[in-house]
This record gives sequence, structure tokens and C-alpha cells, in this order.
Amino acid sequence: MNDFHELETELSLREQRGQYRRRRIVQSPQGREILVDDRWLLNFCSNDYLGLANEPRVRAAFVKGAEQWGAGSGASHLVCGHTKAHEQLEEALAEFTGRPRCLLFSSGYAANVGVINSLLGNKDSVLQDRLNHASMIDGGLISGARLRRYAHRDIEDLQSKLSASRREGRRLIVSDGTFSMDGTTCDIRALSKLAARHDAWLMIDEAHSLGVLGANGRGLIDPQQFSCDDVQIVIGTLGKALGTQGGFVAGSEQLIEYLIQSARTYIYTTAVPAAVAVATLTSLQLAQSEEERRERLQQRIRQFRTGAGQLGLQLIDSATPIQPIIIGGDALAMRVSRKLEERGLLISAIRPPTVPRGSARLRITLTAAHEENDVQRLLAALEELQPVINSETTE
Ligand code: PMP
Repeated sequence: MNDFHELETELSLREQRGQYRRRRIVQSPQGREILVDDRWLLNFCSNDYLGLANEPRVRAAFVKGAEQWGAGSGASHLVCGHTKAHEQLEEALAEFTGRPRCLLFSSGYAANVGVINSLLGNKDSVLQDRLNHASMIDGGLISGARLRRYAHRDIEDLQSKLSASRREGRRLIVSDGTFSMDGTTCDIRALSKLAARHDAWLMIDEAHSLGVLGANGRGLIDPQQFSCDDVQIVIGTLGKALGTQGGFVAGSEQLIEYLIQSARTYIYTTAVPAAVAVATLTSLQLAQSEEERRERLQQRIRQFRTGAGQLGLQLIDSATPIQPIIIGGDALAMRVSRKLEERGLLISAIRPPTVPRGSARLRITLTAAHEENDVQRLLAALEELQPVINSETTE
């Protein structure tokens, strides 16, 4: 039992099934093109939706932040790692989301796990959309709450699961705002009505909506329409449209104070460097004020959808930068991804368990940094590869 023989067998099985995961070594900053293995590739798989990860003003703020605060924060928030820069970012994010308060976590993953695990225990239930991100599923599992998964965006199914869980302590409905692998969005109004009717809490993960959707990029939860009483818990990440690193939860004063006392992924980890908070303050300002980034992004989304529709490619009903093309088999998805790479396009194949079995896909993401010609190149490559995409999978 003290060697790794079993693991080796499992690894070769993964390889045979086309499920082996490998990292690429990137040799340049994020952008519309990135240098991978000494080749510049057009990048259609990052979540840097607004092109802020390497924006000169954000970079300059990061450098200034490091000069002022150093490289590391030294401790957790509750010990001595919570700086004025973190505090200012929390205030700015609370204002952005229209919530009384906000709490920073070191990642969106940590925020989801910490919040769900704090609020629920083994007498409670968590109701999750079947396509929710792994971080929400993991938070539910760690909490010991009963897991009830409802069909994707299916309000009736959720309703019947809420009725069935009437006697199961606290109930928390959890959903991606924009679904990370499909680009579809949840119906906030329907979910908040249902939560109120069944006396359940509602938590929405806005990871892929913030900065991208809604007025000034506030996401799906317009604070004018949805107060803390309608959507009690809003989750966000800083690593996608805001271009930096970290996660947060926004909500009422009591929620945030309770999480400070109890969220283990908040308490027992080092605060992100203050320089990250300084950089994020700048990227948050740009994300709100530079509407033209969202306009450019929307133009690229429209261009891609029109072009892909003309090619007869099967698209998901997504109005967001996430535009997957479902391939089916894992090995075939890998093959198409490799062929795109040969043509200078970087689009990673997403396979189970990240997506349901049989729905391996090219997760194409568009960003404000893309130019019209870039999307044309993508469409031309997809047209050329259509026979492969449509080929019978041998799996
Ligand atoms: N929620 C969703 C919906 C996500 O897609 C992701 C990242 N893939 C996360 C949370 C995790 O955020 P982070 O990368 O900041 O840990």
C-alpha cells in the first residue's frame, strides 16, 4: 500500500478514456493572444471578459500597491492581515453590488465553500441547480446538509423539492447566476419569489455575470430590483471580469458578521496580498465606467452567434461571453481542440466531471479584447473543422 501502483493504473485509464488533464505553460500575460510553447495563439478560453487582467492602469495599481504594502499580507484577516486596502475594496464591492456589506475571501471557491458550510449543518438542506459550479456542490457536501439537486433552471422541479424538504431545518437555494460551462442564466425573479414563499434563503453566484451583465456591469442582481430580502447572499469572484484574484460575499450586516465568526475558509487562511486589493479597486472602477468594454464584448458575442448559426453549429441559448459548442465524446473534444490549436486558436476542451458525461465541449469565451477579425478567424476554423466536429464518435 506504500507505492502508487493503483494511482498509476487510474492515470492510464484516464489517458485511455481521453480524460487526462494537462497544464500548458503560458509565457506571456493574459490577452487576446497568449504565448504558449513558443507560439502565439488567439485566446478563446480565458475568463478575462473585459480585458482587465493586463490593463496598464490595473498593472500600475498592482505595482503601486506592492510598493506600499509589500508582496504578502502576512496573516489571516482576523490576525493582522486585514489592511486598509482590503477594507476599501470591501466597501467598494458592497457599493457595487448594492449590499450593506461585503467580505473578501482568497478565492471564489473559498467563498462558496465557506458560506454554505457556515450557514448549514446536517439537519439542513441545500437545493442546488444540477449545473452548479463544483465550489457550491463542495460547500454543500462539507456542511453535511442534505443535498437536493434540481433540474437545470427548472423552477417546477425546485418547487417540488422545496415542498418535499419542508421539515428539513434551514433551506438554502443555491444557483450560478451565469452558468460557468453553458453561459445560460438563472431567473432571479422566479427564484427569489419561490425562496420567499418557502421561507428559504437564496444564494446566487455572480462569478460570470459581474462586470459583464446589467447596468454598469452589476450583474443579474440589480439592487434596485432585488434587495437583501429577495436575494440574501451574493457571491462574486475577482478573477474573471475584474481581472485579478479573490472572491467575496455581499449581504446584510448580520450575514457578514456571522461569516467573520464562522466561515472556516475565511478564518484559517492568509489574506490575499493588499496589492491585489489595490489593483482590484482600479479594475472595479474601470469595469463600471468603461461601458465601451461591455459594448465591444456584446458585438463580438453577436458576431460569433450569427456566424456560428450560419454554419449550422449547435449553440446553447446563451447571451453571455460563454459560448460552448457541445462535441459529445471526450476524445473527440480533445481532437477538435488540438486541431484548433494547430490553426493558432486556443480553446480548451471541457470534459466530465466538469460537465455531464457525453457533453464534452469546446468552451469558447469571448472578451472585450477580441477584434472582429479574431472572431472571423475562429469562425473560419470552425467551418473547416465541421466534418470532424460532426464525425461519429467512436467512444
Ligand atoms: N463560481 C463559479 C460559478 C465559477 O465558475 C468559479 C471559477 N471557475 C468559481 C466560483 C471559483 O472562483 P475562483 O476562481 O475565484 O476560485
